[in-house]
Amino acid sequence: MGLIEVQDVSFAYADRPVIDDVSLTIEAGEFVGLVGPNGSGKTTLLELMIGLREPDRGSVLLFGDPAHDSSDRDRVGFVPQKIGDDAGEMPVTVREVVRMGRYPRKLVGRFSDTDRAAIDDAMRRVGITDLADRRVGRLSGGQRQRVFIARALAADADLLALDEPTVGVDAESREAFYDLLRELNDEGITIILIEHDIGVVTTHASEIACLNRELYFHGDPETFVETNALADAYGGTQSVVHHDH
Ligand code: ADP
Repeated sequence: MGLIEVQDVSFAYADRPVIDDVSLTIEAGEFVGLVGPNGSGKTTLLELMIGLREPDRGSVLLFGDPAHDSSDRDRVGFVPQKIGDDAGEMPVTVREVVRMGRYPRKLVGRFSDTDRAAIDDAMRRVGITDLADRRVGRLSGGQRQRVFIARALAADADLLALDEPTVGVDAESREAFYDLLRELNDEGITIILIEHDIGVVTTHASEIACLNRELYFHGDPETFVETNALADAYGGTQSVVHHDH
């Protein structure tokens, strides 16, 4: 049984079909790069996979239960693309956001020493200890992404779902960010990542899923760069740019 099982899923916004008969299984421990052109349904598929949307047809199982009704949603850390839209204006501090990740774990009433240690450790892991008392709304996009990852770590999440986390982040910070994801994945956290830079994602991910309404490819990055799946999905306009790291 996979961690996520997408079976014959279709989805439309009103009368605009966005996902067409997609099936794929994500196993525990994988680092999946979800790629495809703009508007190809990546965010929608990610939201379907973690139960934020319900398929029109087909089924999505998350940890073995229908994703939409899953009682295990706190095992998923979601880092949305536009954090600024919902959390950015909140007058809360970094530490407060990370603490939210711990609420499902704490005993009624108060945080234990273990909870506090988990919160501090999560902030240290992603390098935001210095920002603990800053307001989230005042941070850069890249810093906010880290806050949301720390929240997932404080929650002991088994799965991290990230929607283009490094947009607007400089190359050096992006490398550091990918190193962090690699470390977390090595520790057993399953990662699903939407990334527009094909060269970067094929370097770091263990699996590639290539989408353009339909699933064009699902398999290892080496095979992906050797096949025509990318050109097919992008309508023949895209080739892989290799980055040497
Ligand atoms: P991607 O992440 O690959 O850019 P999305 O899943 O965000 O693709 O969007 C797929 C298509 O659905 C796009 O054409 C987009 O404009 C449309 N879409 C996305 N969200 C909504 C929404 N909430 N309502 C209506 N259409 C939407």
